[in-house]
Amino acid sequence: MNAATRTPGLNPPTAHLRVVSDRDAPTTPGIRLSGVSKTYRTRDGDVPSLRPLDFHINAGEFFVVVGPSGCGKSTLLKMISGLLPPSSGKIFVEGEAVTKPHGNVGIVFQNSLLLPWRNILNNVMLPIDMRRLSRKEYLPRAKSLIKLVGLEGFEKKLPWQLSGGMQQRASICRALVHDPKIILMDEPFGALDAMTRERMNVELMRIQRETGKTVLLITHSIPEAVFLADRVLVMTERPGAIAAIYDVPLPRPRSLDAMADPVFSELVQRIRKHFFSQSAID
Ligand code: ADP
Ligand code: MG
Repeated sequence: MNAATRTPGLNPPTAHLRVVSDRDAPTTPGIRLSGVSKTYRTRDGDVPSLRPLDFHINAGEFFVVVGPSGCGKSTLLKMISGLLPPSSGKIFVEGEAVTKPHGNVGIVFQNSLLLPWRNILNNVMLPIDMRRLSRKEYLPRAKSLIKLVGLEGFEKKLPWQLSGGMQQRASICRALVHDPKIILMDEPFGALDAMTRERMNVELMRIQRETGKTVLLITHSIPEAVFLADRVLVMTERPGAIAAIYDVPLPRPRSLDAMADPVFSELVQRIRKHFFSQSAID
């Protein structure tokens, strides 16, 4: 985005807030969903959770999904990771149909879910052990990731000896250690205090830039979504559908100063309006 398009007065204020459609899809996207829906069948009856969704995420894109509590965000992530089958439709990751849990993704859950009896290094190495990959081969990678997130020196500590933010950073290393092309994150910073959360946002953007990964992050924080994303998908209340997809034309690399940019506040407000008619977002 060039500076002229953001100069107030030269353009209509929302000219850059382009709502994008799936027609912009590239031929080989990182992730593609085609008619994907989910209805949970329970003893008490059917729970429709997601209406049929069609969208794509570009390879190397930072894509953020924002939506109210219970709209099906976690369901969406579980289906993309192959942990949960959709009720209809097809999911493609790197061009291949998802039919079972696959090795090409790393997942970060809301709480870090580190194993309490494993030290930080061995928690980070868990995907290597589970996939029976060579420890020797991946150990240097684990160590360099630990360094990348600023946890050098804490390799031998147990999770309880680290702060919540540090544990979450370790779980990001764990998601990256087997070098998956795609990182799926389900409200990864929900449990953190505001300041740690901002620091983690900056950290995550840096890691994504340095590794070129495709990231799908779920959040219920609209400012966090706009700050991090190349594009933001806004979901409706359950059963979730796509309300809109927005381009975020803030230049990269972004620092926390990006939140002072008029484009940032305009986009945050624009997305908030989707929820005015709904109950508060979480
Ligand atoms: P979100 O992550 O957006 O808060 P979820 O994907 O966790 O939403 O859930 C979407 C809806 O599906 C919710 O109404 C929830 O109650 C329902 N749901 C989630 N998991 C199950 C399940 N295993 N069985 C039945 N209903 C479920
Ligand atoms: Mg959830």
